[in-house]
Amino acid sequence: MKEGKTIVVVDNPEKSSSSNVAGGIYNPVVFKRMAKSWKADALVPFAIDTYKSFEQSYGMNPLWDVPIMKIFANEGEKKLWLQTWNHGEMDDYITNKILEDPYPDHIHNPLGASVVLQSGAVDVSKVRETIRTRLAGNYIKDDFKTEDLKLTKEGIEWKGVSASKVIFCEGHLGSNNPYFPKLPLRQTKGEVLIIEIPDFEPKHIINRGCFILPLGNRLFKVGATFEWKDINETPTAKGREELQEKLNAFLKVPYKVINQQAGVRPTVVDRRPLVGLHAEYPQVGIFNGLGTKGIMLAPYFANEFVQHLEKGTPLTKEVSITRFERG
Ligand SMILES: Cc1cc2nc3c(=O)[nH]c(=O)nc-3n(C[C@H](O)[C@H](O)[C@H](O)COP(=O)(O)OP(=O)(O)OC[C@H]3O[C@@H](n4cnc5c(N)ncnc54)[C@H](O)[C@@H]3O)c2cc1C
Repeated sequence: MKEGKTIVVVDNPEKSSSSNVAGGIYNPVVFKRMAKSWKADALVPFAIDTYKSFEQSYGMNPLWDVPIMKIFANEGEKKLWLQTWNHGEMDDYITNKILEDPYPDHIHNPLGASVVLQSGAVDVSKVRETIRTRLAGNYIKDDFKTEDLKLTKEGIEWKGVSASKVIFCEGHLGSNNPYFPKLPLRQTKGEVLIIEIPDFEPKHIINRGCFILPLGNRLFKVGATFEWKDINETPTAKGREELQEKLNAFLKVPYKVINQQAGVRPTVVDRRPLVGLHAEYPQVGIFNGLGTKGIMLAPYFANEFVQHLEKGTPLTKEVSITRFERG
């Protein structure tokens, strides 16, 4: 739309959607390895600028100013953090400032904590709602079936809509897309809890084995689990217990579980998005595989894809679907 193009979105909101349960968190640091997340230097500023630009385009700001506070679970984690800070290349994302005992009434925190710079969260449902409203008549609530899609010389036709291209952005449901059978799109289930904690108003997302994201009105989202076998959208007792166990390890105060949600992430074997046009039918494209990091990845690669479609600029080779079509 920014490029002056008209787009029509066909979406069945009744269908499974990972974005509906996502925390909306962006984090440039991979805590396990204390390494920079892939392409963080390019992705994070681009994502922040994009979400900020919603203020001007749509009159709303979806960014929540809640940087991630990492609570050190053991001496090893703290040591690694401080060693990593010394390396230089992570200085845009972490500092050597250790907070001795933040939120002492609520968080068990004997080894201290530190804050991730350029991290935070996005109100995903607000983004979706705003864009749907903006699309107005060009947002069509319907089931998209490939049987209804006709490829023509000029482009495509679907139920009376003509367009130069169709781009499949189906999330994990794209793993059954008949146009892209070779792409290794996988499904990773994740669960979150919505909890209520009275009299606690942290200015951070708190992370220690799981995250606690403040939603306002005493509510918090706690997540997330990872499950590769039983793929469905049903919350489980196992998921709840796993999250509560992690939470109980550092939350000092009682809380009430208000809700539990499950979703399925569209993941890829090499953990990179799937972007590009079909090798034989150039009027058919895909934008998928956002995995665990849709918030950071989507703005940058959506823009890159548009430039590719409009100007023929090459796609980053790690995301281009040609990496799976060659061999
Ligand atoms: C528990 C959990 C927590 C997460 N937390 C985070 C987080 O904190 N930060 C982060 O960056 N990412 C997070 N993620 C990952 C994030 O949700 C995904 O990266 C992202 O939402 C994927 O977006 P998508 O648009 O590709 O897919 P989806 O959100 O699944 O959207 C696909 C859409 O396509 C529609 N659709 C599919 N097929 C059809 C059809 N045939 N006809 C009509 N409509 C169709 C669906 O209705 C849906 O609306 C989390 C995921 C889970 C499960």
